[in-house]
Amino acid sequence: MSEPRMKLAVLTSGGDSAGMNAVVRAVVKTGIIRGCETWIVREGYEGLVRGNTQVHAIHPEPPTVPAAVKHAHGGQASNLLSNLRFGDGDLLRDGTGDHPGGRSLKGRYIVRVGWDDVRGWFAEGGTLIGTARSAVFRTTEGRLAAANNMIKEGIDALVVCGGDGSLSGADVFRSEWPKLVAELRSQGKITEEQAAKHGHLKIVGLVGSIDNDMSMTDLTIGAPTALHRICEAIDNINSTAASHSRAFVLEVMGRHCGWLALLAGVSSGADFIFIPERPPEANPWEDEMCAEIQRHREIGKRKTIVIVAEGAHDANLQPIRADYVKDVLTERLGLDTRVTTLGHTQRGGRPCAFDRILPTLQGEEAVKALLEATPETPSYMIGVRENKITRVPLMEAVAMTRAVAEAIAAKDFAKAMSLRDPEFHQSLEGFFATSALYKEKQLAHYKRMRVAIMHMGAPAGGMNAATRAAVRYCIRQGHRPLAIHNGFRGLLDDNIHELSWLGVDGWTARGGSELGTNRTLPDVDLGAVAARFQEHNFHALMMIGGFEAFNALLILDNGRKHYPAFHIPMVHLPATISNNVPMTEFSLGSDTSLNALVDACDSIKQSASASRNRVFVVETQGGKCGYIATMGALATGACIVYTPEHGMDLDTLRADVKFLKIRYGLDAKGRSEGRLVIRNEASSTVYTTDVITKMFKEEGGELFDSRSASLGHTLQGGVPSPMDRARAARLSLRCMAFLEEHHEELQKQPSKVKQAPPESAAVITIQGSAIKWVPVQEMLQHADMKNRRGKTAWWEDIRGLVEDLVGRSELL
Ligand code: ATP
Repeated sequence: MSEPRMKLAVLTSGGDSAGMNAVVRAVVKTGIIRGCETWIVREGYEGLVRGNTQVHAIHPEPPTVPAAVKHAHGGQASNLLSNLRFGDGDLLRDGTGDHPGGRSLKGRYIVRVGWDDVRGWFAEGGTLIGTARSAVFRTTEGRLAAANNMIKEGIDALVVCGGDGSLSGADVFRSEWPKLVAELRSQGKITEEQAAKHGHLKIVGLVGSIDNDMSMTDLTIGAPTALHRICEAIDNINSTAASHSRAFVLEVMGRHCGWLALLAGVSSGADFIFIPERPPEANPWEDEMCAEIQRHREIGKRKTIVIVAEGAHDANLQPIRADYVKDVLTERLGLDTRVTTLGHTQRGGRPCAFDRILPTLQGEEAVKALLEATPETPSYMIGVRENKITRVPLMEAVAMTRAVAEAIAAKDFAKAMSLRDPEFHQSLEGFFATSALYKEKQLAHYKRMRVAIMHMGAPAGGMNAATRAAVRYCIRQGHRPLAIHNGFRGLLDDNIHELSWLGVDGWTARGGSELGTNRTLPDVDLGAVAARFQEHNFHALMMIGGFEAFNALLILDNGRKHYPAFHIPMVHLPATISNNVPMTEFSLGSDTSLNALVDACDSIKQSASASRNRVFVVETQGGKCGYIATMGALATGACIVYTPEHGMDLDTLRADVKFLKIRYGLDAKGRSEGRLVIRNEASSTVYTTDVITKMFKEEGGELFDSRSASLGHTLQGGVPSPMDRARAARLSLRCMAFLEEHHEELQKQPSKVKQAPPESAAVITIQGSAIKWVPVQEMLQHADMKNRRGKTAWWEDIRGLVEDLVGRSELL
């Protein structure tokens, strides 16, 4: 066998976070595909310092290589086959480090792992390779021992996944490396040859942190799952709080970063939040909080939720503790108040879909960065910006992160806020706009609008949250929010009523569509639709829905030629689980749906694995858009994905069967696992789910069996995900601002009959982390109207990654 391109180790350090296992899996698999030898380090830096006191017992089970594979690789074993498994994956997974068969990890902290050793890891929370806070690694002696242990094993590259402390440690280690090597050589611990070979350490950092506290990246690994845990807890508390008319004060994690508290506040519809970056402005803040909560109670609200970040304080840096907030609410307002500290429940549990996808993409990028690293390139941190995976100089990111804490310590809260990203600002503004009930800040009468709000198409997670935000904003500004129930059919039936601040209170956490929705388009009777617009004197329209809503907006915009009633600002807020609206990277509901798919697939995979050798063909919705199927395949580790964009033909199916045979043929005896195939319902009219399930069963023979499962409407998800709720509020408020702006412009026109400009009928889109307005006529140019999807899709390349991560190209 030829020398590996790189001997690469991965470790997890600092506080654990969901998604760390997905990092390890992605690094190991990508490393192997790219010709590296792969290792894990147990217990973070502590394991690196301890190293291996036991001689390595690597007895790889030699795979029985099917003839087809040997042939395909010209008789050469590919790197995947040479690194298929070393058998320690199970030891790491069961957490004991011991195995009844006599294998043990005792005295072994730096462990060689292969492809199958990390199989299925990303469905598990925490970190299977262990993490620690290592005091000894902070010392030069500790780092000398760590360097010695790495060189002994021949490791020349390191991936570190942890918080800012862990990444600082990585940077110190790398900058000190040449000195450490010289010292080891002078002590005679390594040979001249080893010293020459290990002159430079390649290191890369991934941010595993539940607080989302790292600068220069939009999200950290584990933060979305922690937000899920918090929102689940608040959803549960909400029902008991309302039953007893109680107040609850929740303390959530976040010492220097209020992201969790803020996003939880927005997603759960809390009454008040305390975050470190922006302490309450009023002095004393107790008056402000009590006045606000009192207002809510006076209009009939039965429950109160206050969220306090762990690091919250007032403007003088005096800590604000949950217990004190409770005392204030009890004593001043007489509320029956309880405190819930969520503590470590926030860290734990199965990673949500995003915490499987992001670490997979970042793990792949980390290996690429290491392979390209030279002594001159800085150590990189892998981040995500504007939905793209990025490399940023690690120490710059750490320094900027520290700057936030320093600004807070210096009471420079404006600076602390300026170091947060725009989404943070928008979420905070959104929270104030939707949680507080101010009547005194309403707009001048001529600026006020009668805003019609409608849901269209199939229900999607976040539709209700978006409506709630719009309604609350409207009331605060002095507009009148008018719900059109049941889409255009309801409009024609005059099914319209005004929504109230309290009436929409619990809508953030509700799935489905509170307004009712259907697919009827306005051209069913455009004249009658215009007449209704006129009768109800709508000044603005917001449609929340999928491709139908886009279509409806197009019809209304075209109808402006004939009907003056459509000369009002009109917006479409994309909400569809299919994520098929052109030009926007995310529609509301697509995250909820991905999570529903991941939940279902975890259960299906468990069943498939219990039967040892079962291929489950899982059918997804999505119309003619393969987004959910593709991202779902990435998030669940499916081995094949079928999408309408890519289509299905006999050649592909033949290759798929061959791949499955080879893969099952390589499984250890008696240890075949279940595998998933994800098929979008519209991938082919001929090769249906039933047909391919039967085909796999027939072809699998002794090797594997096949079953199918259709996820159908379960993909609409029950409770919307926190991401969808937060996104819904943020986008909805932007829609309202857009409507206000165009309404005001129209009011300036002198004539009674107004002429709305084309850009006043637009779709709100997410492009990167920016929110962009696209006039509906421009959108048309980017739409594939026949297949009801965009002409291009940002996620199309993901399919290749799905195939890479199951070793398809290596094995076929
Ligand atoms: P969390 O965000 O969960 O606190 P973290 O990575 O910031 O995670 P820390 O305890 O700060 O957690 O750091 C983890 C480990 O990284 C430390 O225990 C230590 O071994 C190492 N480390 C941190 N800072 C340094 C440093 N300046 N030099 C060397 N090692 C360091």
